[in-house]
Amino acid sequence: MPLADIQNRIENACQKAGRSVQDVKLIAVSKVQPNERVEAVLAEGCRVFGENRVQEAQGKWPDFKAQFAGVKLHLIGPLQSNKVKPALELFDAIHTLDREKLARRIATEVQTRGACPELFIQVNTGEEPQKAGVLPADVDEFVKACRGFDLKIKGLMCIPPVTEEPSMHFALLAKMAKRNGLSGLSMGMSSDFESAIALGATHVRVGSAIFGDRVKAPE
Ligand SMILES: *Cc1c(COP(=O)(O)O)cnc(C)c1O
Repeated sequence: MPLADIQNRIENACQKAGRSVQDVKLIAVSKVQPNERVEAVLAEGCRVFGENRVQEAQGKWPDFKAQFAGVKLHLIGPLQSNKVKPALELFDAIHTLDREKLARRIATEVQTRGACPELFIQVNTGEEPQKAGVLPADVDEFVKACRGFDLKIKGLMCIPPVTEEPSMHFALLAKMAKRNGLSGLSMGMSSDFESAIALGATHVRVGSAIFGDRVKAPE
């Protein structure tokens, strides 16, 4: 779907919700997409992209960044503690902060770099055993711990269980963000970004609706 169509849908969703379109950032999720498709979306004017693996992003983004000014990269996949340094070199935002060890590593790295990426805490709202993220019951304490490391937290992020109505997860995430004084809500993907916007999303992560179906990466 052309980027402009997605932007129109975002605008419509904002209008319906009585929100300003400036308050919703579209992150084009380019993971596993061939470079030609990514380049086409860059040519359409998109400058905010999401990747879920540090290594994959390192392979393609330095060149694109040299070619297109103003690119911002968001890490939306799991981050290993030993990859914090390269991640902070490449990414402007991290959506998957989910444990104290990682928070501590980021804090140390931020001190030496003097700049901090935008940080979102991933919450496992569906309490799925195979999924990353802080459990809902532990969110308040984890936010406090991060602030104790002097990390500025932008907001919360979730990936609802595929088998459940996403809205209740979005509403839960919004509630947890509000009571912790956090303004950012990273929620909503290709199939549900409009309902996420209705419930307060500030960052929607849209992949296949923009790029088409993902070609499976070779193992
Ligand atoms: C892949 C991915 C997306 C995008 O998913 P689509 O359904 O293709 O829009 C969003 N968020 C995360 C965390 C992802 O891994």
